[in-house]
Amino acid sequence: MISNYPNLFTPLDLGFTELKNRVLMGSMHTGLEDNLEEYDRLADYFAERVRGDGPGLIITGGISPNKSGGISPNSGTLDIVDNVHYHKKITQAVHKENGKICMQILHTGRYGYHNDIVSASAIKAPINKYVPRELNETEIQQEIRDFVNCAVLAKDANYDGVEIMASEGYFINQFLSLRTNKRQDEWGGCFENRMRLAIEIVKRTREAVGDHFIIVFRLSLMDLVEEGCPWVEIAQLAKAVESVGVNIFNSGIGWHEARIPTIVTSVPAAAFTRATRKLKEEVSIPIIATNRINNPETAEEILRQNHSDMVSMARPFLADPHWVQKARDNRADEINTCIACNQACLDQIFSGETMSCLVNPRAARESELIYTQTNTPKNIAVIGAGPAGLTVSTVAAQRGHQVTLFEASDDIGGQFRMAQRIPGKSDFKETMRYYRKMMERYGVELRLNADISSDQVKEMVDGEQYDEVVVSTGVLPRSIDIPMSASGINHPGVLTYPEVLLKRKKVGKRVAIIGSGGIGFDVATFLLGQEEEVDLDKWYRQWGIDPAFEAPGALIEPEIESPKRQITLLQRKATKSGKSLGKTTGWAHKLHLEKNDVRMLIDVIYDRMDEQGLHVRVSGEPEVLEVDNIIICAGQISNDSAFASLDKEILSSLHVIGGASIASELDAKRAILQGAELAARL
Ligand code: NAP
Ligand code: SF4
Repeated sequence: MISNYPNLFTPLDLGFTELKNRVLMGSMHTGLEDNLEEYDRLADYFAERVRGDGPGLIITGGISPNKSGGISPNSGTLDIVDNVHYHKKITQAVHKENGKICMQILHTGRYGYHNDIVSASAIKAPINKYVPRELNETEIQQEIRDFVNCAVLAKDANYDGVEIMASEGYFINQFLSLRTNKRQDEWGGCFENRMRLAIEIVKRTREAVGDHFIIVFRLSLMDLVEEGCPWVEIAQLAKAVESVGVNIFNSGIGWHEARIPTIVTSVPAAAFTRATRKLKEEVSIPIIATNRINNPETAEEILRQNHSDMVSMARPFLADPHWVQKARDNRADEINTCIACNQACLDQIFSGETMSCLVNPRAARESELIYTQTNTPKNIAVIGAGPAGLTVSTVAAQRGHQVTLFEASDDIGGQFRMAQRIPGKSDFKETMRYYRKMMERYGVELRLNADISSDQVKEMVDGEQYDEVVVSTGVLPRSIDIPMSASGINHPGVLTYPEVLLKRKKVGKRVAIIGSGGIGFDVATFLLGQEEEVDLDKWYRQWGIDPAFEAPGALIEPEIESPKRQITLLQRKATKSGKSLGKTTGWAHKLHLEKNDVRMLIDVIYDRMDEQGLHVRVSGEPEVLEVDNIIICAGQISNDSAFASLDKEILSSLHVIGGASIASELDAKRAILQGAELAARL
């Protein structure tokens, strides 16, 4: 078969070994690394991703070389021989499937979330409450020995190599940058001194592991923080570590404390590959591009344009473990695309949970949530084609059931139909493309414009045609109870969020949004607008990224544009606006609105609406918001019209999932998970 992606599937020769394709499954902390008893599960997780035609190389989640380098007190550490056999479970599983895997050595330095953290200087990170201790000369030498020891143990565990993590603002990066290294000795001051730690680690690791062992160096191509390294230093470091034994450069974009988004949905596809292109002029070994690459077309284009020699994807392999196989078979339309939401991966990790994936709840639960072929095929009716209904339908059909999916509107998607209209969330369309393809592949019969009444539900339950009836009718926007004058809530200026996002009702220049949850933020983003096709140069200017990457940290003054609308976002609670947004993405959404002068009012009492506008009290102080439109984004209630009036017996034989079951704090993560778990049981 002629490949649609010839560059992606060209092997990469490293001299002593060959990678079968140009795809790297980048490092992603799953949470399983931190418990040696979970290494069987971790082995299953990697094996699933490398089975068939998997990525040319995998990098594990970060493993620290000593206790103080861990992200938490119980982080996975490889510092003693006793732990080697646990790691062998992983390497055996991957090698059995003909894959290659490197272990990432991650020392978090001042980003560690515990008392015993160390760094170049005793400077607290703005995103951490713990203050690091400054290492002395003897301790620095011990740190280097710990890195080397860790690499040697990784080799004993049969890893194909290691990745030395020197980006994202971690330990090695903290020595490199003047922001965090204020030392006066031979490890600080001039760049030759600041890069000494990185060079010593690579040099001594190479000496210890020999030539036939891959060393990947994850280099920070742009720090995106003040006092970050300028390009001249980055290039100098790259040349220096190449000369002492690195085989491949992986790239890192931005420190964790940077206030420029680098991985969230709104970051344009392949936004940073111009920097890997620039590095190619400085070094001669392969370079890997990373960040916001999630489909084979983008990956192929990066390679075709010679912006890098390989592409790295981490989250896309959670979303679809068979990404490479599908691309290889020219079945890209079957890929379950990562939508960069972070909701089930990074947000869960930062909440201390094991990660999974919003669009693929089997991620990291490969041995628990299993879609076996059924021996007793059933006829299943599913009512409602939002994320919950689509998931239960496609997974049940994949298992061999006969599924009919009824949808009241003229298209599938439910709340996703609105989400995909938000600037920066167009990847949500890919999830719909995936569901459409799965329905076609597994023969789900879709009936659109089929608004099922409670009588029809009763008939479905009582009749012979269906063995199981699933109700996934989703949610309706909550109407609110704000006193009004004669014109009041029926005033044409009052709109619900579906009227704005789906029906595209006209909205004026001055807007008040009632409700500051995820939807309120989304509607504000929608009203600020953005072109369909994002201009990368403009995006760089807006966020203050130097397009030449020369400036320290690649930072320049951001360009300020006058906002398209005057927006006020309101909530009754006195807690910070945006508190309910995703842990790792909320700050970027909020910063975007702040840059556009959106007023965020908290502790608000809604007094009334009239022709003048919205009358409120903010922390007790009366104010009139003179606006053209008031948009209600006050949460949802379950859409239960198809079943609320049914008697208990009928109700007990229905499967009610997603927003139809509980609307509060509903998100697609819960809806899809419920759909998948139900489908696995049916
Ligand atoms: P939500 O997060 O529950 O927010 C509802 C908002 O409406 C709150 O600000 C609430 O604040 C206000 N509200 C509730 N009842 C009200 C009432 N009777 N009168 C006036 N205001 C009222 O719901 P959502 O924004 O519709 O989002 C739904 C789900 O989708 C959530 O789970 C959300 O996390 C998820 N989502 C997330 C994102 C994202 O993270 N980017 C985007 C979209 C959706 P007060 O009660 O303080 O007034
Ligand atoms: Fe991608 Fe969201 Fe899944 Fe994370 S949870 S892998 S960001 S789709």
